[in-house]
Amino acid sequence: MRPIVAHISETALAHNLAQVRRYAPHSRVIAVVKANAYGHGLLNAARGLKETDAFAVLNISEAVALREAGYQHPILLLEGIFSAEEMALVDRYQLDIVVSHHGQLQWLLDYQVNIPVRAYLKLDSGMHRLGFQPADYQDALNQLASSGNVSEIVLMTHFANADVPDGVTQAMATVARVTDAQPYQRSLANSAAVIQQPRTHANWVRPGIMLYGATPIAEKTAASLGLKPVMTLQSGVIGIQEIQAGESVGYGSLFTADTVTRVGIVACGYADGYPRHAPSGTPIAVNGVLTRTLGRVSMDMLAADITHIPDARIGSPVELWGNLVPVDAVAQASGTIGYELLCAVTARVPMHVI
Ligand code: PLP
Repeated sequence: MRPIVAHISETALAHNLAQVRRYAPHSRVIAVVKANAYGHGLLNAARGLKETDAFAVLNISEAVALREAGYQHPILLLEGIFSAEEMALVDRYQLDIVVSHHGQLQWLLDYQVNIPVRAYLKLDSGMHRLGFQPADYQDALNQLASSGNVSEIVLMTHFANADVPDGVTQAMATVARVTDAQPYQRSLANSAAVIQQPRTHANWVRPGIMLYGATPIAEKTAASLGLKPVMTLQSGVIGIQEIQAGESVGYGSLFTADTVTRVGIVACGYADGYPRHAPSGTPIAVNGVLTRTLGRVSMDMLAADITHIPDARIGSPVELWGNLVPVDAVAQASGTIGYELLCAVTARVPMHVI
């Protein structure tokens, strides 16, 4: 069997959830487990996060999977429903929904629910993606408030710039202008806002990435924020080469040795989700020792410099990311963010909960 595996740490999930509560001690937590829990496996993550107050997903199928696994928490559909017909499933599985446009509002108002629904009314506070415009918000709110289909209203927005120090000032001014007089609960904060925008914490926070132990803030490491990596992408050395000065490794001969170099060939490539655009020099650990990748990442393999790791041999363990190599460091070297790398691990990589 190929040695690659993604270890998922339940303890780290629980630790990171506790860390959210330390940052936002007066808020309830909606753990965002969309996108297969940012690539960690929905049910793996849900187990580690079972002490959360609620979950948030994107698709009804994810919500149903949580219900069928026995989770009775509130489950929020972050983009609401995509057709009137989906109200039947919302009702049957008792899901909470985001309402972000008039069509969704009408689908909710028109359906004969058995159990009234908790609705999160989304305000566009400047992201200009989803949500009611400030001028339309009050009217939508009035319609929800007067509907027997709605058990509870939560006022909600999603920030465009919570990851920069004064990035929510304008959005919070919009939120205040539109919602200040309202008696309802609020949900505003993603991970970056949980960490560095305490005034956004309100009643419900919605962290995603920090639960998985990666940073939402480019300038700060996850470790410095008190977060523990949940996924360790591990593999092994499956070949060893010694190349001479002037010889190259991999497609395109992108790395050429200037001295004798020992190369470990690692069973991990872009078909496993490792970024093809990771350049030579991306951090990687072999036998527990930090080193660098060499040359171009191929579909099933990549190369690591093991010149200074003399005991490395075929079968030696390799950490692509995890404790020794933060996923954010690989992301930074590759010009992307930890979110993308975690979500991109492919189905052929076995997952193992530890
Ligand atoms: N809330 C909403 C509406 C989202 O779309 C997301 C993620 O994209 C989150 C919360 C969680 O964001 P983060 O992973 O940055 O904490």
